[in-house]
Amino acid sequence: MNISESRYNLFKSPILPKWQITNDLHLHTSMSDGNITPKDLIEKISLTNINCIAITDHDTTKGVEESLKFAYKKNITTIPGVEISTSFQGNEIHVIGYFINIKNHYLQTKLKNLRLSRKRSILKTINRLQLLGYKISMEEIKNISNGTIGRPHIAQIMKSKGYFNTTTEAFEKILSNKKIININREKINSIDAIELITQSGGISVLAHPRSIKNLEKILPMFVNKGLTGIEIYSEKLTQKTLEFLKKLSEKYNLIPTGGSDYHARNEPNEIQPGMNGPPPHTPEKLFTKAFEIHGANIGIIPKGF
Ligand SMILES: [Zn+2]
Repeated sequence: MNISESRYNLFKSPILPKWQITNDLHLHTSMSDGNITPKDLIEKISLTNINCIAITDHDTTKGVEESLKFAYKKNITTIPGVEISTSFQGNEIHVIGYFINIKNHYLQTKLKNLRLSRKRSILKTINRLQLLGYKISMEEIKNISNGTIGRPHIAQIMKSKGYFNTTTEAFEKILSNKKIININREKINSIDAIELITQSGGISVLAHPRSIKNLEKILPMFVNKGLTGIEIYSEKLTQKTLEFLKKLSEKYNLIPTGGSDYHARNEPNEIQPGMNGPPPHTPEKLFTKAFEIHGANIGIIPKGF
């Protein structure tokens, strides 16, 4: 992975888009690995020019309902979303679903299984870290998480115990080491995830495509299965990567999306809500597409559409 373009790069700020940021379609809450509750997140967003958001926690929709409640009071349209960790031909790929019906039983069963497999993998990682002398336990992870657990929680504990100065450092020095993290975590195939999202009345978008190997080869397969959009206005991309992704989106008629991917990590140069996001009419474009595909069977029509 090229860290210089990653959202984790502490030394670099993102290229700011030319337009005013009025929507942020990639946000995390404390229901996955964000450090901010849905309520506080909405509060923070209400201080920006953003009027439409999507809550996209990892493998869970637990933060959606609470966010809808608070966002409604602040007049912020909220698209129910989820960011599913998938795998495809050796790649770890994140697929985002928008407008999904969060009450869909099949979707919730699948997400629950993914969270269980995360838990098993985190347990193995903790065991390996303990063998290396790090004092860290599952209990501590549970204490700081409300829903989906992941490596960011381990990083947070390592930082709080003084093993590393920042969570980014914990990732760079230890949590990206394949011998330590359990890389065999059971994941859903990317194409199955795209289909799952469609079955739940939603549309799918490819998250942070920059880090995907053989993107040009893989993309047509996803488009064939119903992929609707691709994240372009997110992370700290170079102009070159940005142009490359823009061309791909045009070639495959994918809606360019994005957002801050905010986690409230409180680290230097973290992209804050309002600093990065797609052009103003993107939510409408996504909604039109979802309506084209599902008609009245669209998962959820958020207030404001
Ligand atoms: Zn994310």
